[in-house]
Amino acid sequence: MAPGAPVNEPVVLTSTYHAGGDATYGRDANATWEAFEAALGALEGGSALAFASGMGAIASVVETLPVGACVVAPVDAYQGVRLLLGDLAAFGRLAVRSVDVADTDAVLVACADAGASSGLLWLESPTNPMLAIADLPALIAGAHRHGLLVAVDNTMATPLLQRPLDLGADVVVHSVTKLLAGHSDLVLGAAVVRDPALLTALTRQRSLHGAVPGPLETFLALRGLRTLAVRLERAQGNAGELARRLVSDAAVAWVRYPGLESHPGHSLALRQMRGFGTMIAFQMRGGGPAADAVCDAVRLIVHGTSLGGVESLIEHRSRYPAEAHLPPGVLRLSVGIEHVDDLWADLQQALAAGG
Ligand SMILES: *Cc1c(COP(=O)(O)O)cnc(C)c1O
Repeated sequence: MAPGAPVNEPVVLTSTYHAGGDATYGRDANATWEAFEAALGALEGGSALAFASGMGAIASVVETLPVGACVVAPVDAYQGVRLLLGDLAAFGRLAVRSVDVADTDAVLVACADAGASSGLLWLESPTNPMLAIADLPALIAGAHRHGLLVAVDNTMATPLLQRPLDLGADVVVHSVTKLLAGHSDLVLGAAVVRDPALLTALTRQRSLHGAVPGPLETFLALRGLRTLAVRLERAQGNAGELARRLVSDAAVAWVRYPGLESHPGHSLALRQMRGFGTMIAFQMRGGGPAADAVCDAVRLIVHGTSLGGVESLIEHRSRYPAEAHLPPGVLRLSVGIEHVDDLWADLQQALAAGG
């Protein structure tokens, strides 16, 4: 760095550039994007591209597939992904096979069928909101044997807990909106790849579909990224503690957290992750009405959607028609960086309201 240069990459607000240089137009190049992309690329171990949103990145990856390709995707994938794939299947653009990503054999059978179509295996681990753990090394290697491209949505784990490109994945996508940016103040996405041809294809998708990020969003995300490690450590510690305490609450039927030994993917998570993350799912014995009562009663924890911010968020996911497959009364808790005893006190009084 040149002496006297600013410590922070400036927010470059321009739609055009003086002719004769590398950058020509603001839909193709921006120095603030590039500073964020360099940092995320280093964390994931690839070349990163920032997009206007997580869905912008995801749609661009899907658009690289040939017409008629089969996408093997988690039955409990992020709802935006399920809706997008469902629409594309209805238009005849793609075929979709829904699988339980925790069932390795079933996923690989679907991949064998999808292989001939130059298809894609779409993975999330842990899944949202049920926190199923996929055996990433086995699934990535198996899908490659059948000739599929493999993409992993790493939003829930972040590169600090798992690096899918190191495990052989072709693409990692992020909703940067969530943990990476971490302050619930922007919407942003990213895709990270190692293959130069795929990088070129995604750069072209981003430009031609116009899913370009705002410079200010990438500046804020870069600022958020600087504290990712400390935010994650604190929130993850809180999540582990709250999960253990929730298990013994009489109003709660079951608790899903990959760090609990009762989680079916616990030993797999121990092998492939450096920590168990910041998300908890649990079911109220009183079903939907009890879950709604908890959401109405929280005071410190915010009742709202999204995840990965410094503030804890709770939501009754089955209120969405697209999440109707979930058992009734399942609450998703995104744990933030508040004091764990304050969080527990709030949860206890809210659980009493739903008990
Ligand atoms: C939020 C989310 C997305 C979509 O990202 P946006 O930034 O909202 O477009 C994709 N995958 C997962 C796992 C998410 O949580």
